[in-house]
Amino acid sequence: MFLDANESPFADTVQIDAWPSFNRYPDPTADELRDAIAARYGLQRGNLIMGNGSDELIDLLVRSFVRPDRKVAGLSPSYGMYRVAAETNGRVYAAVRLQDDCSVDEDTLFSALEGADLLFLCSPNNPTGTVLPLSFLERVLRRFPGCAVVDEAYGEFADAAGIPSAIEFLKRGARNLIVLRTFSKAFAGAGIRLGYGMADAGVIDVLLRTKAPYNVNALTQAAGLVLWKNREVMENTVRLLIAERERIAEECRRLGCRVFPSAANFLLLQLPETVSARKICDDLLQRDRIVIRRFEAIPAWKNTVRVSVGLPDQNDLFLRSLSRLLP
Ligand code: PMP
Repeated sequence: MFLDANESPFADTVQIDAWPSFNRYPDPTADELRDAIAARYGLQRGNLIMGNGSDELIDLLVRSFVRPDRKVAGLSPSYGMYRVAAETNGRVYAAVRLQDDCSVDEDTLFSALEGADLLFLCSPNNPTGTVLPLSFLERVLRRFPGCAVVDEAYGEFADAAGIPSAIEFLKRGARNLIVLRTFSKAFAGAGIRLGYGMADAGVIDVLLRTKAPYNVNALTQAAGLVLWKNREVMENTVRLLIAERERIAEECRRLGCRVFPSAANFLLLQLPETVSARKICDDLLQRDRIVIRRFEAIPAWKNTVRVSVGLPDQNDLFLRSLSRLLP
């Protein structure tokens, strides 16, 4: 049972009744999808780019906006692909450690931004689940002369809780902001590989000219439209997953774990000092075939694991299994 990659546990939420022909190349800019998504957010088609997952866009942003001797900056811990995209493109990645309450020390951040062209922020953040306040983002957009990316891969879970999105700044005309979202999480579409970026039309124009011509295939464009048009299906699963997340959080607290406050479909848990995260992960796998993720790379938060929220019976099994392993 996979609770390690923050995928949706809901398979086949919608059916596709008509597959497109695929003897021809797909629409290079996926305009039908861009129009549908732009309409929802009060943006224009020219404010959007579709990607082969948001991972493709993360790489594209580094290639398009970071000059050869300049850095990429981000927070730590956060999504691992920011560093990978920077380093595989030969750029230095400067990571600023989050404080114990998951907030950002702004003096440290702004000194790390010296020499940086691109900053990756993630909200809700993977793996902590925590949200960056819009007031913080506003200060970053005002002071940082480069481009700030706000990765909202888990944004639909935050939307459902009434947490405002960075898209607000795009509506007000922010020119140095890119917001990323994906079909891989709330929309239950990780397998079709579809993500999108939203930004000022000038920024999108550069990205469209840099991307591979047919980066989003015809089958994915068709499936993505069906998922997008069945939005209420996604919203129902999001509501259920949030209720389950809170149930897991409460039970884990009762079991003696520190539970980071999450606005996403996963929880970061700091296990009691008397157990080892490695042993717990091994035992969950051996005894009940449950896969979760360990986060050894966070020195301040030793013994942390991240668990994705599953279906109610999967969560029951996880909680039962964990409670047997904790003192
Ligand atoms: N950003 C974050 C924060 C993620 O957690 C993930 C997936 N784990 C991605 C981006 C990549 O998503 P996609 O499947 O759209 O490439």
